[in-house]
Amino acid sequence: MKVRIVYRSRIAKILGVGGITLYPYILISGDYDEVLMNHEFIHIAQVRRDGWLRFYAGYLWDWVRLSVRLNKHAYFELPAEIEAFSSQRLVRHPALNETRTREV
Ligand SMILES: [Zn+2]
Repeated sequence: MKVRIVYRSRIAKILGVGGITLYPYILISGDYDEVLMNHEFIHIAQVRRDGWLRFYAGYLWDWVRLSVRLNKHAYFELPAEIEAFSSQRLVRHPALNETRTREV
Protein backbone atom coordinates (compact mmCIF):
# COMPACT_ATOMS: atom_id res chain seq x y z
CA MET A 1 0.00 0.00 0.00
CA LYS A 2 1.32 3.41 -0.92
CA VAL A 3 2.46 5.55 1.99
CA ARG A 4 0.73 8.90 2.36
CA ILE A 5 2.55 11.69 4.17
CA VAL A 6 0.68 14.59 5.71
CA TYR A 7 2.76 17.58 6.80
CA ARG A 8 1.49 20.13 9.32
CA SER A 9 -1.05 17.54 10.45
CA ARG A 10 -3.68 18.77 12.90
CA ILE A 11 -4.01 15.27 14.34
CA ALA A 12 -0.28 15.10 15.09
CA LYS A 13 -0.43 18.55 16.67
CA ILE A 14 -3.45 17.61 18.81
CA LEU A 15 -1.68 14.44 19.95
CA GLY A 16 1.38 16.51 20.79
CA VAL A 17 3.77 14.40 18.70
CA GLY A 18 6.33 15.31 16.07
CA GLY A 19 5.09 12.47 13.93
CA ILE A 20 2.92 9.40 14.10
CA THR A 21 2.45 6.47 11.74
CA LEU A 22 -1.12 5.33 11.31
CA TYR A 23 -0.47 3.01 8.43
CA PRO A 24 -0.57 3.84 5.56
CA TYR A 25 -0.44 7.46 6.76
CA ILE A 26 2.48 9.28 8.27
CA LEU A 27 1.28 12.40 10.05
CA ILE A 28 3.92 15.04 10.72
CA SER A 29 3.17 18.04 12.92
CA GLY A 30 5.67 20.27 11.15
CA ASP A 31 7.64 20.20 7.94
CA TYR A 32 10.03 17.62 6.51
CA ASP A 33 12.66 16.32 8.92
CA GLU A 34 15.02 13.61 7.71
CA VAL A 35 15.53 11.78 11.01
CA LEU A 36 11.84 11.94 11.91
CA MET A 37 10.89 10.61 8.48
CA ASN A 38 13.37 7.75 8.88
CA HIS A 39 11.81 6.98 12.26
CA GLU A 40 8.29 6.90 10.84
CA PHE A 41 9.35 4.81 7.84
CA ILE A 42 10.79 2.23 10.20
CA HIS A 43 7.31 2.01 11.73
CA ILE A 44 5.91 1.56 8.22
CA ALA A 45 8.33 -1.34 7.74
CA GLN A 46 7.32 -2.80 11.12
CA VAL A 47 3.64 -2.74 10.17
CA ARG A 48 4.44 -4.42 6.85
CA ARG A 49 6.58 -7.02 8.59
CA ASP A 50 4.17 -7.81 11.44
CA GLY A 51 0.78 -6.98 9.92
CA TRP A 52 -1.44 -4.05 10.89
CA LEU A 53 -3.40 -5.69 13.70
CA ARG A 54 -0.45 -7.48 15.26
CA PHE A 55 1.71 -4.36 15.16
CA TYR A 56 -0.82 -1.95 16.68
CA ALA A 57 -2.26 -4.45 19.17
CA GLY A 58 1.28 -5.37 20.21
CA TYR A 59 2.28 -1.72 20.46
CA LEU A 60 -0.66 -0.92 22.75
CA TRP A 61 -0.14 -4.07 24.79
CA ASP A 62 3.57 -3.26 25.24
CA TRP A 63 2.66 0.30 26.23
CA VAL A 64 0.22 -0.83 28.92
CA ARG A 65 2.35 -3.74 30.13
CA LEU A 66 5.56 -1.74 30.39
CA SER A 67 3.89 1.36 31.84
CA VAL A 68 2.46 -0.75 34.65
CA ARG A 69 5.68 -2.67 35.21
CA LEU A 70 7.91 0.40 35.13
CA ASN A 71 5.34 2.66 36.80
CA LYS A 72 6.14 5.45 34.36
CA HIS A 73 5.67 6.62 30.79
CA ALA A 74 7.01 3.66 28.78
CA TYR A 75 7.28 5.21 25.30
CA PHE A 76 11.06 4.89 25.05
CA GLU A 77 10.96 1.32 26.37
CA LEU A 78 8.59 0.00 23.71
CA PRO A 79 10.30 -2.58 21.46
CA ALA A 80 8.93 -0.88 18.32
CA GLU A 81 10.32 2.48 19.47
CA ILE A 82 13.67 1.03 20.51
CA GLU A 83 14.04 -0.41 17.01
CA ALA A 84 12.98 2.85 15.37
CA PHE A 85 15.16 5.09 17.51
CA SER A 86 18.18 2.81 17.12
CA SER A 87 17.95 2.89 13.32
CA GLN A 88 16.55 6.32 12.48
CA ARG A 89 19.99 7.76 11.74
CA LEU A 90 21.09 4.85 9.58
CA VAL A 91 20.59 6.05 6.05
CA ARG A 92 21.11 2.58 4.63
CA HIS A 93 18.75 0.76 6.98
CA PRO A 94 17.04 -1.94 4.84
CA ALA A 95 13.58 -0.78 5.88
CA LEU A 96 14.30 2.72 4.63
CA ASN A 97 15.65 1.57 1.31
CA GLU A 98 12.67 -0.67 0.72
CA THR A 99 9.92 1.74 1.67
CA ARG A 100 11.27 5.09 0.65
CA THR A 101 12.61 4.39 -2.79
CA ARG A 102 9.72 2.37 -4.18
CA GLU A 103 6.50 3.66 -2.75
CA VAL A 104 6.62 7.36 -2.01
ZN1 LIG B 1 8.07 5.93 16.95
